[in-house]
Amino acid sequence: MEKLRNYINGQWVSSSATTYVNVVNPASQEVLAQVPSGTPADVDAAVQSSENAFATWKRLPAGKRIQYLFHLKRLLEENIDELSKTITLESGKTYAESKAEWVRAIENVENACGIPALMQGDFSEDISLGIDEYMIRQPLGVCACISPFNFPGMIPFWFLPYAIACGNTFIIKPSEKVPLTMTKVMELVAKLDLPAGVINMIHGGKSVVDGMLEHPGIKAVSFVGSSAIARYVYAKGAANGKRVQAQGGAKNPVIILSDADLDMTTQIVVDSVYGCAGQRCLAASTIITVGEHANFTESLVELSRKRSTGFGLDESVQMGPVITADSKTRVNSLIEKGIQEGGRLLLDGRDAKISGYEKGNFIQPTIIEDIPLHGEIAGTEIFGPVMSLVHINTIEEAIAYVNGNKYGNMACIFTSSGLHARRFRNEADAGNIGINIGVAAPVAQFPFSGWKESFFGDLHGQGKHAIEFFTQTKVVIERWLKEWTRKF
Ligand code: NAD
Repeated sequence: MEKLRNYINGQWVSSSATTYVNVVNPASQEVLAQVPSGTPADVDAAVQSSENAFATWKRLPAGKRIQYLFHLKRLLEENIDELSKTITLESGKTYAESKAEWVRAIENVENACGIPALMQGDFSEDISLGIDEYMIRQPLGVCACISPFNFPGMIPFWFLPYAIACGNTFIIKPSEKVPLTMTKVMELVAKLDLPAGVINMIHGGKSVVDGMLEHPGIKAVSFVGSSAIARYVYAKGAANGKRVQAQGGAKNPVIILSDADLDMTTQIVVDSVYGCAGQRCLAASTIITVGEHANFTESLVELSRKRSTGFGLDESVQMGPVITADSKTRVNSLIEKGIQEGGRLLLDGRDAKISGYEKGNFIQPTIIEDIPLHGEIAGTEIFGPVMSLVHINTIEEAIAYVNGNKYGNMACIFTSSGLHARRFRNEADAGNIGINIGVAAPVAQFPFSGWKESFFGDLHGQGKHAIEFFTQTKVVIERWLKEWTRKF
């Protein structure tokens, strides 16, 4: 069985770990590799390499730094098939979903290639007679990211291209559940002729995360994962003097007004709920119909029932398994909880049997109706293929319900009324808003703007926020003697 290694200073090196955990295909339970439960010593080795690389990398002109990103983009595109298959094998999502991840990852590489312009400073001449003032942006040093299991390819790319294009060096810690994808990416990084240590990767779980948060050499941490860990990482990183952006969990509400287009709304909402088996931080979870709704209920149930579940590399499959057997147990118990709370099952996917993949962590599309609005299932991130369907009488009450959500990652509305849509956009307390859109995932030029328990920090991933996060400003006030004497 392959034991995965860290990628440090341009070399594949064994971890100092004494224990390893299995990386498992969630559709078949086949063990794909073993990942080290790394230690703070691994963190230290990576930081030393990154610090050494920073001294020269930051001096390289931005226009030269981005040449490596152009090359990386080509390599990602040339290898997209193998990279996508790797995501499917270790995370369970379908091949099409895996490929879509890479499109989004590559988009961030392209956007970061604009760094020579994006990180330009500001200049004011003659703030006083003969005195000029200007602001320049400089890199921070060693930056690091800690990523979750559900987007093994895309999420590190919300940060990595911007960090290195701005002149920082970067350490990636993938989720220990899906470490193979970034391992494949490092094989491509090794072909870039990038100076050793500009990009390093270390494997592990909590011990490595704590080692990163405590290491004085790491200046900034980008985290994506569940809210409880995001809050922990934010607090511990800040207590250790680091810049931290920590994206957390979600429970995304979608309002359907009775004037919404039936076919379009049904298709988009069903794709949003069940895409990636509901394991998306932008998955629609609570579907709120307002006013007359019988036709929407019927149509949502019919289309959900047709969604085919199975192994993600089979072409006809539209939905894969959830990540682990524990996840399956947790999702099934939340469905049970919803029933106990008074919800009615319109579609029950708990007893999924997939021929050839009997041991897989499969749950088929599930719909539970009329759960109590303030009960446990309504307030909990399910992270599985479950639609909670509730009915509310007015748009005012629906918006108030959306705003009572402790999370604020995404909120969507489906309507043909510009007036209602505008009001929702203005009043909804969430950072990513969809209007007749089911997954309001910002493209690379825009920040991924979670609010409330979905985000801890100030500057989000992607867009101009990434440039702000990965640089520090330096203001210079300047006077030259000849200019000074000229005034007399
Ligand atoms: P997770 O919080 O369990 O793990 C995320 C990372 O934290 C992993 O790298 C893991 O090794 C590390 N980690 C886990 N437990 C830790 C601990 N006790 N101490 C320190 N580090 C620890 O999240 P997950 O299950 O991998 O991912 C799913 C979650 O991520 C969901 O809640 C989902 O909503 C969220 N998510 C959010 C976004 C977003 O943009 N807001 C995007 C994707 C996923």
